[in-house]
Amino acid sequence: MEKISVVNKKLQIPNHVVIPFIEGDGIGKEIWQATYPVIDAAVNKAYQGRKKIIWQEVLAGEKAFEKTGEWLPKETLHAIYEAKVALKGPLTTPVGGGIRSLNVALRQELDLFACVRPVRYFTGIPSPLKEPEKTDMVIFRENTEDVYAGIEFEKDSPEVKELIEILTNQFDVTKIRFPKTSAIGIKPISKEGSQRLIGAAIEYAITQKLPTVTLVHKGNIMKFTEGGFKKWGYELAETKYADYCFTMNQYQSILLKDGKEAATNALNEAMTHKIIVNDVIADNFLQQILLNPANFSVIATCNLNGDYISDALAAQVGGIGIAPGANINYNTGHAIFEATHGTAPDIAGLGKANPCSLLLSAVMLLDYLDCSKAGALITAAIEKALAQGYVTADFAAMLPAATLQTTAQFGAHLQKLIEEA
Ligand code: NAD
Repeated sequence: MEKISVVNKKLQIPNHVVIPFIEGDGIGKEIWQATYPVIDAAVNKAYQGRKKIIWQEVLAGEKAFEKTGEWLPKETLHAIYEAKVALKGPLTTPVGGGIRSLNVALRQELDLFACVRPVRYFTGIPSPLKEPEKTDMVIFRENTEDVYAGIEFEKDSPEVKELIEILTNQFDVTKIRFPKTSAIGIKPISKEGSQRLIGAAIEYAITQKLPTVTLVHKGNIMKFTEGGFKKWGYELAETKYADYCFTMNQYQSILLKDGKEAATNALNEAMTHKIIVNDVIADNFLQQILLNPANFSVIATCNLNGDYISDALAAQVGGIGIAPGANINYNTGHAIFEATHGTAPDIAGLGKANPCSLLLSAVMLLDYLDCSKAGALITAAIEKALAQGYVTADFAAMLPAATLQTTAQFGAHLQKLIEEA
């Protein structure tokens, strides 16, 4: 069995490929048990034995702690590092004792800078929107910077006192409203970090032939950090991706120089064969995804905005039970595909969990492994099952006419649909 390698930023994938998986805590075991037979059935159906996934369990979370005394054993990191990719269930965040979130630790160790979340509607799912099918986007959330970098200093700590003194005395900062009782967090946003994320979003739009890339930011208020994100995004689109992109920054320049008609003509002409790169302020974006969701296709945004936006968009199309995600470093090829929800301790062990988040993350994994044919079979089976009214408890509660399925029954139904396809 060969391992995945990367040549010129392109993955070389053996036909029989070893993929590590982390089962996860809480509902992790149930959704994993329902998921992997569906993936195996889809790969088998699509490639008739020519391609195969060999699952390798690696430990993290409670299971790892029970067996090894460590929450995230070095062997697990090493195995994922070597295999390049992994599929992961939800992990409990250990409380206290200075233990970091395991999810954050995995992302940081492998420098998985892009959090990629596709959001689409499946017919039959309850949604708060009148026309939920108009929501069809892929979010690229920056995963390593921003106030989420973890650079925070507690109120009254020696560090915070020193920082406030430097800011006040050396930088003449007068805007800390309550300097004696403040905690401080730092928001690093770099040109390099922004451009590698925005570049990934543009490349995705190019390969998937999507019409727009929208930079979502609060640069009107945070001019150098999120304003920088927007500026560096436009710069990248206008230089490295000039053959593929037309930006609203270029539109504005033409507008100022040659007037409205010339700018409109340039935009209309660009729309026939180029990706339009535009930007929206984050608060307006949260309105627009409800009012005009069809206006957006690929979203590139900073870490904190991306966190809020991902959950808001997931809720529009059925909630976290069906929201997939991946954390990817497009330069090294490392990627972890994961259910975006948590361990759901309130329903763990009851057969109520929806395995779709993990299943659709597996579809992303299959696309990444150039096994899209198998991924498409899983997506089609989910579409069919949901349209037939076969749903798990989360949706059944809102769909009186539906056929309630346990997690295991739902997985078995999908497997049957794939085998019969
Ligand atoms: P949660 O996502 O586990 O649960 C929130 C709500 O959604 C609960 O009512 C739960 O029952 C429901 N839910 C979640 N997944 C579902 C599914 N697949 N099917 C049906 N219903 C589902 O969030 P929480 O309760 O805030 O967190 C619980 C634990 O999970 C915490 O330790 C938290 O740190 C951890 N967590 C892990 C991840 C991850 O591993 N990526 C993400 C978020 C939270």
